[in-house]
Amino acid sequence: MKEALAARVRYYREMGIYDLYRRDVGSALSLDQASAASEANLPSQDSFAPHPEEERDADVNLVVVKAEKNVADPVAALRLIREDIGDCTRCKLHQQGRKQIVFGVGDPRAELMFVGEAPGADEDQQGEPFVGRAGQLLNNMIKAMGISREQVYIANVVKCRPPSNRTPERDECDTCSPFLMRQIAVVQPKVIVALGAVAAKNLLAVQSSLGDLRGRWFEYRGCKLAVTYHPAFLLRDPRQKAEAWKDLQMVMKELGLKPPAKSESKTETNGEA
Ligand code: URA
Repeated sequence: MKEALAARVRYYREMGIYDLYRRDVGSALSLDQASAASEANLPSQDSFAPHPEEERDADVNLVVVKAEKNVADPVAALRLIREDIGDCTRCKLHQQGRKQIVFGVGDPRAELMFVGEAPGADEDQQGEPFVGRAGQLLNNMIKAMGISREQVYIANVVKCRPPSNRTPERDECDTCSPFLMRQIAVVQPKVIVALGAVAAKNLLAVQSSLGDLRGRWFEYRGCKLAVTYHPAFLLRDPRQKAEAWKDLQMVMKELGLKPPAKSESKTETNGEA
């Protein structure tokens, strides 16, 4: 247990989270935990009543406070998260040819957030999610919903490009997804759309097939979450676009969005969508 607590403290510090408190008042901290906590120089939190920005790590009796805690301005809060990521070397992707970290883009107060898998070559080059062919299709999907890319927030589970665009591995997702969770907590969208199986499975911590996850609502930390096909999959199998459109219509209904009038959308969706 002592090693587990020490490892968890190291992990949080690597995530840029330095405000950690022992939960030892009136609760059972084992002797091992107490000594690991004091070796790690953790203060104790007298009143164990976490704020919304705080999380309990029940496994090791820690209260975890994020750098962006008490930062009301989402632009500043997102900047703090980006600073925490730094020039990240936490997983092996930093040694596998990534050019830069692709953090996220869009309205920091967006009601709608799209979550993809990981950057591809174009995103790695430009430092922005969904700017390649799949991104063009995503833009068209967003336009078809009657809104623009600038009105939503877009991020990925993994912030670095996996080599040859392979699917990100479990450890890469586990290392990177806490940053996505912090982005979601800052943006507080009403609705999250998980694009594809990697995003859906990581956010929902399930192993179900995409078919089982589509067409219904999930609750995700105070947001509603829907799952649809990844635009890259739709590029490979355009017949599924009608199904994806059903998913987006479910989201539009929830957000009170109306598709643009035909004349407005015609030229815009003539491309990939
Ligand atoms: N695919 C993703 O999942 N994310 C991107 O940013 C680009 C392609």
